[in-house]
Amino acid sequence: MTSAIVIGGGIAGCSTAFALAKRGIAITLIERHDKLAQEASGNPLAMLYPKLNIKPTPANILALQGFLFTLGLLKKLPKSTEIFNACGQIQLAFNAREQAKQTTLSQTSETEFLKFQTLNTEEASAIAGIPLKIGGLYLPQAGWVKPQALCEALCSNPLISVVTSTEALSIEKQDELWRVTAANQQAMNANIYEAEIVVICNANDIKQFHQCTSAAITPVRGQLNWFKSSVESEKIKPIICSDHHVSPAVDGWHCVGTSYAPNDLHAEISPADTQQNLNALYKLAPDIYKYLDIESVQARVGWRSQTLDYMPLAGQLLDEEQLCKNPSRYNANPASLPWLSGLYVNAGHGSKGMITAPLCGELIAGLATDSHLPINLQLASKLNPSRFLLRELGLKQLANSLFVA
Ligand SMILES: Cc1cc2nc3c(=O)[nH]c(=O)nc-3n(C[C@H](O)[C@H](O)[C@H](O)COP(=O)(O)OP(=O)(O)OC[C@H]3O[C@@H](n4cnc5c(N)ncnc54)[C@H](O)[C@@H]3O)c2cc1C
Repeated sequence: MTSAIVIGGGIAGCSTAFALAKRGIAITLIERHDKLAQEASGNPLAMLYPKLNIKPTPANILALQGFLFTLGLLKKLPKSTEIFNACGQIQLAFNAREQAKQTTLSQTSETEFLKFQTLNTEEASAIAGIPLKIGGLYLPQAGWVKPQALCEALCSNPLISVVTSTEALSIEKQDELWRVTAANQQAMNANIYEAEIVVICNANDIKQFHQCTSAAITPVRGQLNWFKSSVESEKIKPIICSDHHVSPAVDGWHCVGTSYAPNDLHAEISPADTQQNLNALYKLAPDIYKYLDIESVQARVGWRSQTLDYMPLAGQLLDEEQLCKNPSRYNANPASLPWLSGLYVNAGHGSKGMITAPLCGELIAGLATDSHLPINLQLASKLNPSRFLLRELGLKQLANSLFVA
């Protein structure tokens, strides 16, 4: 295979393009905005840490593996120190549930490789650089990332051609090649792009393509705020988290966030959300709140794309029309299913796209080139983008074992 089209220039599209280009494949990446990373991936800063959990559920395993994968990827990128900083993260034991979870976590050996430490209040304050009211878990490998700079760096491979201000309208297969019809918003004309494979990475808009109407995806509004640092606040070293987070100062600014509102499509900045974020700052770091320059507070709204099972959609699509017309038997051989050869999805990354999307991009590159996969086959089955349709058709067992012999 020598050519691919990627639709969408957020972290999912850029990391998928990167993974394919690494294998020598020429990529056309189509993005409707005039720059990369203008939607969910457009926040000034994103936090890079997995939520540590006791249960080894597929979502938790994916978060851990994705976290380690993104860390490894960042180290390989040019100028990575300008994009990422491993400042560490303290997850405060801010309520009884979190406290109980942290106690159990500190007693299990399964997460030892993450090298987290349990801190009492004094230890946590010493690492935080400011006085804290409670202790928590410290994850030294965690850090912040600049998503736009990361997307730019991922697309710097000369095999990747980024076509901006262009909206993909439809995808059809003709004579063994996939054809994407796309409208250029500046030239006001439509172009057709052809390639052997297409990867759909356009987050909440994937249903615009008739091949993925069964995708169970919900937009979840989130508002992030940021404010100017002060001499006092510059002392914060790691990210400090409860159910919100505050970042250390980066280029003179701290981020604090974020709100979470499923199906809320309001694009305007919400003063109530700003207040909620600042209240969280007050609880996390009262000494910093005291010196807050309220006039400097800014905000940005974005939408996460959340699936019903909180797992991304990553892998090859099944032909939905064929499957509905002619449902397979529960014990069918997965190879006999109506696969749409060469049509893939990388989307639905919820609140953790910076740690799940690059790993999913690598998975798709592995599947498309029949090469090494970065995760086991059981987990790959759980990510398949057609799993919700299979479940609807009563084929749950098949959905869980698409790649398992
Ligand atoms: C407020 C907020 C805070 C967050 N904080 C964090 C965090 O700290 N850490 C973390 O890991 N994650 C965080 N997330 C989640 C993370 O940002 C997302 O999971 C991730 O950015 C999703 O990336 P994506 O590429 O799938 O989607 P997007 O970044 O939305 O990219 C999709 C792209 O597709 C383009 N597109 C859509 N349709 C078309 C079309 N037809 N043709 C061409 N282009 C098209 C869009 O313009 C867009 O650029 C946060 C999200 C929000 C909203």
